[in-house]
Amino acid sequence: HSDMAMYLAKQSGRNTYRFHNHTLSAAASERLALETRLRRALVAGEFLLHYQPLIDAYSGEPAGVEALVRWQPPGEALVLPGRFIPIAEDTGLIVPLGEWVLRTACAQGRAWLDAGMPKRVMAVNLSVRQFQSGNLVELVGQVLADTGLPPECLELELTESMFMDHAEQAIATLHALKALGVRLAIDDFGTGYSSLAYLKRFPIDKLKIDQSFVRGLADDANDREIAATVIAMARVFKLEVLAEGVETAEQLAILRQHGCDFYQGYYFHRPAPMPQIEAWLAGPHAP
Ligand code: C2E
Ligand code: CA
Ligand code: CA
Ligand code: CA
Repeated sequence: HSDMAMYLAKQSGRNTYRFHNHTLSAAASERLALETRLRRALVAGEFLLHYQPLIDAYSGEPAGVEALVRWQPPGEALVLPGRFIPIAEDTGLIVPLGEWVLRTACAQGRAWLDAGMPKRVMAVNLSVRQFQSGNLVELVGQVLADTGLPPECLELELTESMFMDHAEQAIATLHALKALGVRLAIDDFGTGYSSLAYLKRFPIDKLKIDQSFVRGLADDANDREIAATVIAMARVFKLEVLAEGVETAEQLAILRQHGCDFYQGYYFHRPAPMPQIEAWLAGPHAP
């Protein structure tokens, strides 16, 4: 397609409008092809979950895991969610895909309990589309009942963008989810329209400091200030606080100084498939 667009661009000389027109339609048809493949992938069972440990700052033990979706097209390289989640969100495919993620993660959490592992958190990402779908509370209740995962083991990761419009409805949904007994975390905290007002009014259990602030901890005074402020704020509002994307001992030392409760990042463990994570969870955990 892009060869054709280049050819047409040459033919039309300086007519760049034409060039743009054709590259756009090439991108659009590529997108459509991907959408079709994603729909088939869901039916064919080509999605899988990797899990990344969440580390308790005080004990150094894993407090839980976050489920992260991947796509394995047969005979091709594993595809990360950055490539397909945005398209799944635009097309609405995120709703059935998200339901599959929720069911699979909860069933895995229950299986770990059945295997005699201690109670840990299973964190699951939700997209705005799922949050606003109208039957999220029913779905979560149904999945907990079907899988037998204790509600306090399920942590739903929400983003600030979910609270921007229809704040009243969002609060009602959050309270209904809390009534099921699940835990609520705000993901990527600090990247959206954070507001002190909603921290006070919303029944939230945990803030996850976005990795963009953790990345600069060692050499950017602003990032250090932001991380310290979020940790202090979490304390005021009696929320747990986790730092995402911890990659170095230096970042960890700074977070420790400020009293962060939980860590997640490559420094401890990369997201990994189930058998690998299972073995790691069962063994000694020093990084
Ligand atoms: P997220 O929820 O913020 O997840 C954390 C991302 O950071 C993951 O990328 C994880 O692999 C990566 N990460 C963890 N530790 C480190 C680190 O130390 N350094 C760096 N550089 N990265 C680290 P991943 O798995 O590619 O997922 C990307 C995003 O895709 C997620 O960001 C989340 O927004 C979305 N996503 C993943 N799974 C799901 C899902 O099941 N449903 C929905 N709605 N979104 C999902
Ligand atoms: Ca997340
Ligand atoms: Ca995040
Ligand atoms: Ca993110």
